[in-house]
Amino acid sequence: MATCKHCGHKWGWKETIAQLFSFKRKLKCTNCHTNQYISVKSRNQLSIVGILISLIFVPLISFGVPLRYIITSEILIYVFYIGLIPFLIKLSDQEEVFW
Ligand SMILES: [Zn+2]
Repeated sequence: MATCKHCGHKWGWKETIAQLFSFKRKLKCTNCHTNQYISVKSRNQLSIVGILISLIFVPLISFGVPLRYIITSEILIYVFYIGLIPFLIKLSDQEEVFW
């Protein structure tokens, strides 16, 4: 679970999802009100898994799975994945540069 690097407060699932869907780079800890950022390592891992999920359709198409099943399964996997993100992300108390 996402944990504030400043005060050690463990963010709840709802709290983390709400922060993520504000689409701001700075996430605010509800306990100590300091800015937190998603660590570069977490961002990289999240993008890699996101790309892998989007590539699931390749073997499914080659096995002749109908498109509606592929689209449905992709949507379900993404919803499940978004639900897991609060358990996967690690926070940083300073903004890390990507490169
Ligand atoms: Zn905090």
